[in-house]
Amino acid sequence: MKAEKLFPISINPNLCVRCQRCMYSCSPKAIFFKNSMRYVNYEKCEGCLKCVDVCEHGAIEVISIEEGKLEGFTIDEERCLKCYKCLKDDFCFQGLFFLERDEKGQEYVKFRAKSLSKCFKCLKCFKNCPGNAIFPIIKE
Ligand code: SF4
Ligand code: SF4
Ligand code: SF4
Repeated sequence: MKAEKLFPISINPNLCVRCQRCMYSCSPKAIFFKNSMRYVNYEKCEGCLKCVDVCEHGAIEVISIEEGKLEGFTIDEERCLKCYKCLKDDFCFQGLFFLERDEKGQEYVKFRAKSLSKCFKCLKCFKNCPGNAIFPIIKE
């Protein structure tokens, strides 16, 4: 069975006062800036939760997730609401989701598996999909 780790999945921009304490507390330098917001790289994060301890504003939300190597994302077609939020620029920094049509014209959201090296491993897509349809593929 894969081990679980507690992962700081998002830093709430409404609570964060940009004091940088979380960044100073993180020895593997897993916390990064993008568009003036802070995110965490799943693969660099060791799950020590020092960042959560030092945040006086409770801005960091934590989830329990399997530990391992992130090898992409799978989209659960049953759960997908076809809202297409994942295709918008502000959903994934790297535009790693796209629409595929089958021969009957049915549309499916897919992850650009060949572009995995461009992924920031922030798990923002996993957290923000309104249908909870995007799941990380994690290998030991
Ligand atoms: S849990 Fe630890 S390793 Fe992960 S982002 Fe926070 S301080 Fe860094
Ligand atoms: S954001 Fe989620 S629910 Fe909406 S289209 Fe994409 S995968 Fe489907
Ligand atoms: S982890 Fe981040 S960069 Fe990678 S696909 Fe999800 S939102 Fe995009």
